[in-house]
Amino acid sequence: MSRFLNSRYSALEPYTPGEQPKVTGRLIKLNTNESPYPPAPGVLEVINNQELQKLRLYSDPAASELTAAIADFYGLKQEQVMVGNGSDEVLAFIFMAMRGSNDVIYYPEISYSFYPVYCDIFHAHGVKVPLREDFSIGASDYFNLDGTIIITNPNAPTGRALTLDEIESILINNEENLVVIDEAYVDFGADSAAGLIDRYDNLMVVQTFSKSRSLAGARIGFAMASSEIIADMNKLKFSFNPYNLNRLSILAGTEAMKDREYFEDTRSRIMETREKFVKEMREMGFTVLPSKANFVFAASDRISGEEYFRELRKYNIIVRHFSDSRICNYVRITIGTPEEMKSLTDATRQILSKR
Ligand SMILES: *Cc1c(COP(=O)(O)O)cnc(C)c1O
Repeated sequence: MSRFLNSRYSALEPYTPGEQPKVTGRLIKLNTNESPYPPAPGVLEVINNQELQKLRLYSDPAASELTAAIADFYGLKQEQVMVGNGSDEVLAFIFMAMRGSNDVIYYPEISYSFYPVYCDIFHAHGVKVPLREDFSIGASDYFNLDGTIIITNPNAPTGRALTLDEIESILINNEENLVVIDEAYVDFGADSAAGLIDRYDNLMVVQTFSKSRSLAGARIGFAMASSEIIADMNKLKFSFNPYNLNRLSILAGTEAMKDREYFEDTRSRIMETREKFVKEMREMGFTVLPSKANFVFAASDRISGEEYFRELRKYNIIVRHFSDSRICNYVRITIGTPEEMKSLTDATRQILSKR
């Protein structure tokens, strides 16, 4: 630590991203929930020489083209959408400022591990709500709280999802609290709460282009809510980084959002691969939580999570392991192509046969 860092930040523990290896040639990368499929074909066309020339100009601070495409997809008004440099930035604004009068933010005890980091950096009082015994989120555990609520749906790294009725019950029982649903994985089998926005002025839905739209490297996330909430979010954005999306990402995101057919095709392929993979893992004796995401959370009595993680690495397969005691027996496995999942199940069979 240099002597220039303010002491308030000296104990900050940053978020640990999943490994992003430099050489991916022979690696099967199933550790950070990216899509195994390329971006929509239109994305590859729209980023051309002419657009590269325009990089000398600032991007549209409102990213209007992109917010219009998102609003159109979800049947909302453009004033009900704001975009961020990845949903991580959108979440940062929420933890920074959308926390009512008492600075309290509730979120599930096992969930996206960035939430406690944001609480730390922005001095919000984070309160962890335990999961139920089966790793599900109990909707009634969130009734009548006294602060902002953030729920990942489907949850990560468990993959379990709440129904829209359950989300609605949380909204009804928190009229005075902002309820944020982080829907990073919603396109893989759960229902988006976006359709509830016009009925509940305390709802904000956050999504990303990183998983179901094959654009993790473009860094595009967005928030949808009442126009009042979105005006607040834009106030924060314009006080921090007005040009938060670069020109190329605005173009890429717009194309990806417009190509519904490609979106439907890739997400249904991933769900199909997931169902086959889950079945096969269960046949090998794994406990696999029911997943509505593009990953599964799996554990075996025959091998610890950490060891399984390390053994797979020897086969050039990377998955994600978390050391938190309640989930350390599990690994989180991203759903890749059918071929990649076959390599993983083949390797797993070999690993288990040696014990
Ligand atoms: C991946 C992920 C994000 C971050 O997405 P970006 O848009 O890439 O910043 C947010 N929330 C959850 C739960 C995620 O898994």
